[in-house]
Amino acid sequence: MPLMIAAYRLASATFDHPLHLGVTEAGPPPAGLLKGTAGIATLLAEGIGDTIRYSLTADPVEEARAGRQLLEALGLRERKDLDLIACPSCGRAEVDVIAVATAAQAALEGRGLPIQVAVMGCVVNGPGEARHADLGIAAGKKKGHLFIKGKIVRVVPEDQMVEALVAEAERLVAEGVEARLAAADESAEAEAAADRAALLDEKGLDVNHSSTRIAKIRSRLEE
Ligand code: SF4
Repeated sequence: MPLMIAAYRLASATFDHPLHLGVTEAGPPPAGLLKGTAGIATLLAEGIGDTIRYSLTADPVEEARAGRQLLEALGLRERKDLDLIACPSCGRAEVDVIAVATAAQAALEGRGLPIQVAVMGCVVNGPGEARHADLGIAAGKKKGHLFIKGKIVRVVPEDQMVEALVAEAERLVAEGVEARLAAADESAEAEAAADRAALLDEKGLDVNHSSTRIAKIRSRLEE
């Protein structure tokens, strides 16, 4: 990998020809994907490279998908399909984030929805953390809080989170952000604020015990 990066840098500095980037024999995913991405993305971010190709020991469709997703992630290609993001989950999570994100990915992909959708584990921080996403859902108090660009637009039962996300994603793409914000349930923001306050009340401000951990690290550093 370092050799591939160094070779392309040298080629780019030496002559003015288009460069086709790739990491050959990267192997099967996920390690092959990581190797390909590390090399290709590093160079693209430096402005080096004109075409790319992932070389994976996998179905060639996987190679094409990885290339498209990398270019979209770097903002070098217009988004044509779903970008599902999700929080890593933590002590605040009100739902199994992995299960909901997996179900949402399966339900949303392949529908040609060129939007970023967020699945967040709690309504305390989720809508704020994912306010850049076009659409998202955050869990809390056995409910799903559906938000568009960080603004809560609807509250649904927890077992309807994925279904509600799919329905709103379809409408958002068909009608646009402004129209869907205008159609927001007027009581949704207040309900989410009440759920957020109740969760803060129940779990406190430092649910991940950060202050204890920071104090421990500091005391070790001082030893
Ligand atoms: S604070 Fe909430 S949104 Fe952020 S990682 Fe934890 S569960 Fe997810």
